[in-house]
Amino acid sequence: MPLPLRPGRRDAGNPARGDGLGGHRQTGLFASRCVPVPGADPQLPAGPARSRFSGERILELDRPIRALLGLCLALIPLCATAAAPRKTTTTAPAPKAPPLRVVKLDAYRKQVGANPDLELVDLAKFIPGIQLDLRYATRNNFMGRPLYDTPRALLRRPVAERLLKVQAALAARGIGLRIFDAYRPYSVTVEMWRSKKAGALYISPPSIGSQHNRGTAVDLTLFDLKTGKPLPMPTDFDEFSPRAAHAYTQLDPQRIENRRILKETMVANGFYPLLREWWHYGYRDWQRFDVLDVPLDAVP
Ligand SMILES: [Zn+2]
Repeated sequence: MPLPLRPGRRDAGNPARGDGLGGHRQTGLFASRCVPVPGADPQLPAGPARSRFSGERILELDRPIRALLGLCLALIPLCATAAAPRKTTTTAPAPKAPPLRVVKLDAYRKQVGANPDLELVDLAKFIPGIQLDLRYATRNNFMGRPLYDTPRALLRRPVAERLLKVQAALAARGIGLRIFDAYRPYSVTVEMWRSKKAGALYISPPSIGSQHNRGTAVDLTLFDLKTGKPLPMPTDFDEFSPRAAHAYTQLDPQRIENRRILKETMVANGFYPLLREWWHYGYRDWQRFDVLDVPLDAVP
């Protein structure tokens, strides 16, 4: 009886390193593996084993040949992984997420008293001229109802300072920043996760928390400083589709160029993009900031 081949788990990468709505789990290029396992896999039909190649069946051969064939098939993806050039990318700072610790208002105030860098600052005051289009304070979001009581965009002070530099760099080109979302209280992430309205790829599991919960991620787009109108981008905010990915190219050149300008300027100032969402950027030193569950209106 040949052994069935079972696809290995897809490598979810480091789930906590990014996040639009969620943990923004990146998947590896060669993440899937075939592992020979004893016994039948309920996901596979009974009968001769299937290889990872669709519909292909391992021929009924003598046992030693079958064993050798199975070994070769198992080694192919491993060899491919080893042989593949390491991808150098600006998208994936890889430090491990610190253990989840959800900090409430009193503890947050004590932390800020000891270290002013931990303070959440209000972007509307900190970055004059910035536009706010805070969808989670309205019904115009994937949940279909307001999730924030207060339409405020907050980020940790060092992150806001970086964003200030981004705006200055873009202003020289006649472009401004328009914010969709910034700090998001942890309880809102829990609410999004439980709703299951966006899919696990886009929502950070509460067991991890998101970069938005840490006050280190921002969702944003560009606008024309002369007209005040948003520049054309690949999709609207929170369109959970392949079109929102940075690698998507079936777009008119102007949208691709605007996406590139945003990415280039953000990356040059200490942020990194998320492959699946053109609007989401995380701060590279995010891991020193705890997840917060501080109400938006509790911050000065
Ligand atoms: Zn985001």
